[in-house]
Amino acid sequence: MSENPSLSNLLKEERRFAPPAELAAQANVTAEAYEQAKADRLGFWAEQARRLTWATEPTETLDWSNPPFAKWFQDGRLNVAYNCVDRHVEAGNGDRVAIHFEGEPGDSRSITYAELKDEVSRAANALLELGVRKGDRVAVYMPMIPETAIAMLACARIGAAHSVVFGGFSADALATRIEDADARVVITADGGYRRGKPSALKPAVDDAVSREGTTVEHVVVVRRTGQEVAWTEGRDVWWHELTQKQPAEHTAEAFEAEHPLFILYTSGTTGRPKGILHTSGGYLTQVAYTHWSVFDLKPETDVYWCTADVGWVTGHSYIVYGPLANGATQVMYEGTPDTPHQGRFWEIVQKYKVSILYTAPTAIRTFMKWGDDIPAKFDLSSLRVLGSVGEPINPEAWIWYRKHIGGDRTPVVDTWWQTETGGIMISPLPGVTEAKPGSAQRPLPGIAATVVDDEATEVPDGGGGYLVLTEPWPSMLRTIWGDDQRFLDTYWSRFEGKYFAGDGAKKDDDGDIWLLGRVDDVMLVSGHNISTTEVESALVSHPSVAEAAVVGAADETTGQAIVAFVILRGTAAETADLVGELRNHVGATLGPIAKPKRILPVAELPKTRSGKIMRRLLRDVAENRQLGDVTTLTDSTVMDLIQEKLPAAP
Ligand code: ATP
Ligand code: MG
Repeated sequence: MSENPSLSNLLKEERRFAPPAELAAQANVTAEAYEQAKADRLGFWAEQARRLTWATEPTETLDWSNPPFAKWFQDGRLNVAYNCVDRHVEAGNGDRVAIHFEGEPGDSRSITYAELKDEVSRAANALLELGVRKGDRVAVYMPMIPETAIAMLACARIGAAHSVVFGGFSADALATRIEDADARVVITADGGYRRGKPSALKPAVDDAVSREGTTVEHVVVVRRTGQEVAWTEGRDVWWHELTQKQPAEHTAEAFEAEHPLFILYTSGTTGRPKGILHTSGGYLTQVAYTHWSVFDLKPETDVYWCTADVGWVTGHSYIVYGPLANGATQVMYEGTPDTPHQGRFWEIVQKYKVSILYTAPTAIRTFMKWGDDIPAKFDLSSLRVLGSVGEPINPEAWIWYRKHIGGDRTPVVDTWWQTETGGIMISPLPGVTEAKPGSAQRPLPGIAATVVDDEATEVPDGGGGYLVLTEPWPSMLRTIWGDDQRFLDTYWSRFEGKYFAGDGAKKDDDGDIWLLGRVDDVMLVSGHNISTTEVESALVSHPSVAEAAVVGAADETTGQAIVAFVILRGTAAETADLVGELRNHVGATLGPIAKPKRILPVAELPKTRSGKIMRRLLRDVAENRQLGDVTTLTDSTVMDLIQEKLPAAP
């Protein structure tokens, strides 16, 4: 998008949804918060920091004397695990359920805050026994079970940084991450349940830690599935044997606000993963505030469920740290949405009376594909707020979500943020914002975001360009682990003094922000910048299309030509007529320039483990190139199927 910074202004979404009156009347946040934060941004965050319990209250809010290396609440001291667990017990809420765990095979258990405190304390003592100390790193390679959260909190409690690696990643991916962070201990499980059967984890760990020069001294293994595991005496220890003998008492030490809390490698949609470093006080302040404000959380009555995997940032901030810091009751589900049947999510919502649901566009589009009749069989009347994260949500998916899951009543909050931002940055507020399907709308109170052109000049309303963050925020990444230079180059060198998010965006006439996909994915067709998101949303608005991925492939006449890969809805048949109809539909919706040159119906799209479409691989296919790195794909056979479908390029 070099010469012509303005993205084509194509979306014409005009549907609007006011907040429900009843919710607005009792909302945690009112419109005043924006004014208050605008008048005194640092004062606003200093006030939010008081949500936490500090051993030493901070007196300084932000030290920005060496930008972009921020220090928030620098002279404050706190223990993150104490904030997420102990203080709720001390406040008399020990009997409140922290986690309703639902295993894929149907086993379930509910853990109260008092029980969680004992478990986390035992695990903290266990890590100490293994020699883990403040400042060390611990790798966590786990299924979605309560022990994962317990392990993370135990690390936080003793001041060791955790590095959670998706349970679906390969031994190589795990080994690279262990090595990059010099982890001393790996916490894993024999396996977890996926799609109706046990799926092993331990073999990948055995492989990863058997490499030359490994820093790993111990592997702690949770018994989840009971499957056979290979065992290395002296190195491997069972979690239950190690933790059961520990006292349930552990005094949490307070650490500096800037003490490292975790390293998390980005999901790898675009290339070599980056070890994003997050620290304690600022991070916890922002995730607690945003979880409370964006979801309008009432900890005494709500049942919250975030369907993300703990292995990506949404799981860190909105399963572990945000909800637990707020004393919420939440559901944690181990498995896949179609095991044993395609109504599993809705059965869980019904069973636990879930009131706040946070999921991803990829899941929503899958549910659309499966059909409206599936959620219709369940009682979803407990739901009052719905959230979306991970990719731009197509307006049609947004509408479907609100209508078929939210009973046409609930607000939908489309939350934009990244591993690097640590917490939600741009989102509607459910009791305040008149919602626009497909738009994340406004930066939250205390957050400064805008859209700039190539020259770093803010675009006027109606203009498009690059999303940037113009002021530091409490849960911002502090660096890329071990690579300050890459931190500077990746985020801070493109636009002087501004954080470059890597996403294209536009502002509408009201100044609301619409995310248009990654800058790397923007297509340049006959001199026009066209966003992948807009063409995909146009395709998804056709009744025959469930999901679409669009890429620009090199083209002699137009520079790039649009190639679309589509997944058809259940009953739609793949015919030449339909393909022609879809091309015309995009033309009619967005204008002739946006008509895809080729449309290929496919069975699946390549996705990362966090459910994002990996367009760079589709671009490789569309341009007849050898495929780039496929290690972070959920299922690499998807690419073989797509390549088979592809007729020789014209
Ligand atoms: P990598 O940085 O390794 O390529 P990644 O960017 O997919 O991986 P994440 O940090 O999990 O890793 O994802 C953040 C990105 O997801 C954002 O930059 C944006 O592209 C996209 N995203 C997340 N939420 C939204 C949203 N609500 N609307 C639009 N895009 C979103
Ligand atoms: Mg990214």
